[in-house]
Amino acid sequence: MSKIEDEVCKKMQARAETGLSKYGTTMERTDLTTLEWLTHAQEEVMDLTVYLEKLIQTHRGLRRDVCWWCAGKLNWQADHDKEDLMGEEGIVTHLHCTACNASVEYISQEEE
Ligand SMILES: [Zn+2]
Repeated sequence: MSKIEDEVCKKMQARAETGLSKYGTTMERTDLTTLEWLTHAQEEVMDLTVYLEKLIQTHRGLRRDVCWWCAGKLNWQADHDKEDLMGEEGIVTHLHCTACNASVEYISQEEE
């Protein structure tokens, strides 16, 4: 196995020990119905989805200089008054991808 699988195995062992000390039972328990096991599994997947969304949003926030098309680095070019370009309050920010030459334009929107 790789170090990754080794680390996962260690964590599963630690988690089993935590479960035993916290709940006094193991996965060999027989007191839950199939439906209860399915419900537990569904709840774990729902939690996982929330954790993944959190990480996706955090990653996007940290990597705001990455081109959507090619993952190249975006360089800031200019900020303009939205009033001058569109006759509305706000800011228009222009970015340029150093890898694929894409132009990116962020346009602020009024809060509703
Ligand atoms: Zn690009």
